[in-house]
Amino acid sequence: MRGACNGHRVKGADINNVEFTTTSPLRNTRFTECLIQRNALDKEGFKEWAFCPGMLFNSTEKWWGDQGKRNTRHEGLDLCLYKDRKDTILRLGEKTKVPVIYDGSVVGIIDDFLGKSVIIEHLISDGHNNRLCTIYGHTIPEDNLYVGKIVNQGDVIATLADSKMFKIRIFPHLHISLGWTSKKISYAGLDWGNIGAPDTWTFLDPLAFIDGRYLLLAREKCDPIAPGFDDPQPERDPATSATCHP
Ligand SMILES: [Zn+2]
Repeated sequence: MRGACNGHRVKGADINNVEFTTTSPLRNTRFTECLIQRNALDKEGFKEWAFCPGMLFNSTEKWWGDQGKRNTRHEGLDLCLYKDRKDTILRLGEKTKVPVIYDGSVVGIIDDFLGKSVIIEHLISDGHNNRLCTIYGHTIPEDNLYVGKIVNQGDVIATLADSKMFKIRIFPHLHISLGWTSKKISYAGLDWGNIGAPDTWTFLDPLAFIDGRYLLLAREKCDPIAPGFDDPQPERDPATSATCHP
């Protein structure tokens, strides 16, 4: 069943024959609304996203493990924590469904350190032949997802990768990157070692595109996250989440 968060459908099966548009309202993505809807997060009352400093775009800090420095600046935004209407901070559960931010087509499914990253090229140009791409990292792609598949805004393309099996202490989360890719880019050769290489990819801050309220947490508020990771998580419906700050 298609929910109300679906956008317009892409006409035609071959994305190369589709006109790229520069007029799409980039900011009006309804991404947060779609994610809430696809995961029934409104049952508990989704109030707003919550971000530790290390979850933000361009951050040099880790928000997991030793909370030290990242090797490179953060190329995206980590969606993990949110507040309900009682102001309790919750985290996205394993199996959280990941919706697509705009219509487009899958141009890559690559490995990352927690799962897979799905790369989607959208029908949006900056007017200089650069195309908008989004990356959905630390996920398990849907079985029927493949490179070349046309996707529509709001379609679920993946679920979050479960991070429990990894030695590092980190919560399941969606890493989302958003940027302009030049015509010179070869999607076939992309991996996390070359994404963002000069002249091929210009990252934007995804915070401006998730289309939802958010709260920036002080670093001290984020400290309990790592030690709490080993606590047994109660069995819950995949649509709900476990508390982050007991
Ligand atoms: Zn990230």
